[in-house]
Amino acid sequence: MKKDLVIIGGGPAGLAAALAAYEAGVKEVLILERDLELGGILNQCIHNGFGLHTFKEELTGPEYAARYIERVKQTKIEYLLDTMVVDIDQSKNVTAMNREQGIIQIEAKAIILAMGCRERTRGALNIPGYRPAGIYTAGTAQYYVNIKGKLPGREVVILGSGDIGLIMARRMTLEGAKVKLVAEIMPKSGGLKRNIVQCLDDFHIPLLLNHTVVDIHGKERLCGVTIAKVDESLKPILETQEYIPCDTLLLSVGLIPENELSAGLGIQFDPKTSLPVVDDHLQTSHPGVFACGNVLHVHDLVDHVSKEADKAGAFAAAYISQPEAEK
Ligand SMILES: Cc1cc2nc3c(=O)[nH]c(=O)nc-3n(C[C@H](O)[C@H](O)[C@H](O)COP(=O)(O)OP(=O)(O)OC[C@H]3O[C@@H](n4cnc5c(N)ncnc54)[C@H](O)[C@@H]3O)c2cc1C
Repeated sequence: MKKDLVIIGGGPAGLAAALAAYEAGVKEVLILERDLELGGILNQCIHNGFGLHTFKEELTGPEYAARYIERVKQTKIEYLLDTMVVDIDQSKNVTAMNREQGIIQIEAKAIILAMGCRERTRGALNIPGYRPAGIYTAGTAQYYVNIKGKLPGREVVILGSGDIGLIMARRMTLEGAKVKLVAEIMPKSGGLKRNIVQCLDDFHIPLLLNHTVVDIHGKERLCGVTIAKVDESLKPILETQEYIPCDTLLLSVGLIPENELSAGLGIQFDPKTSLPVVDDHLQTSHPGVFACGNVLHVHDLVDHVSKEADKAGAFAAAYISQPEAEK
């Protein structure tokens, strides 16, 4: 199969990039999305707070995504769902697979990387203790509550005060769980001020700054965690250890851009940030391969993702229309 533009990821970045490229005249645009629906992480973010910049109104995540999905459906932009991209080669051949078609090979004139990011897990933190049930990333807990309708636990400690953790503190409370505290290793929260007020202060959930989890208790199911204050070099101060009974620990300790495909292609990464290097046109070190959204760097607001993706789509369109000799 041949396409002008292949977009990997059908989240807000992929959707906005597809529309911008299509509106700039690219005829054959194909979005490849591994999930069963377009919309990316927005589908599970049922709280409001999205779209204040783009639409001048406060939308939920699914409402924000729907505005783009409806526009995509009114165009000739194609998309394949439940389709996982597994490789991109030097000649911009994309290999993907799904249940119906098996392995699919697509020859693209240009590619936009829009794979988003995933959450850092306990493995990335090295917290000692057993591996009992009851430890989730905040986004996984959000998926269970908002998509599957299941409450992952009743007595909750949250490690990390990023926005996802703050939002889940409120969500779990609204669903009847007791959120005992949010522990943050740094001297200030990494979350938006509005989320600290609306998700913690309004529900009287304590935020313990300069604190971390130093031990996990329980064999089959989590029964408690030990927290401790940390010193200036972020080392736990043993005398401050405190045992907190709980059956659930949610981790909100950062996001990692999903760059395995980008690394496989061999694009250049910044040695300090480990993020893809792009030029003023959001083009990676591989000509004709562009990147936008959370795969490029983690964005707090989806409005900024859409804006960046608009540009990536337009730049990809300009690249595709260039004569071969000038590429
Ligand atoms: C829990 C949470 C709460 C948030 N709250 C807010 C908020 O209140 N307000 C706000 O403005 N912003 C919020 N954000 C931020 C905003 O949602 C993100 O910045 C935005 O969704 C990023 O868009 P993206 O398209 O880059 O990534 P994503 O939305 O993650 O989309 C990436 C897509 O790529 C797909 N994909 C990845 N790899 C492959 C592959 N190999 N093959 C095929 N498909 C692939 C994924 O399945 C996914 O659908 C929140 C984010 C999270 C996680």
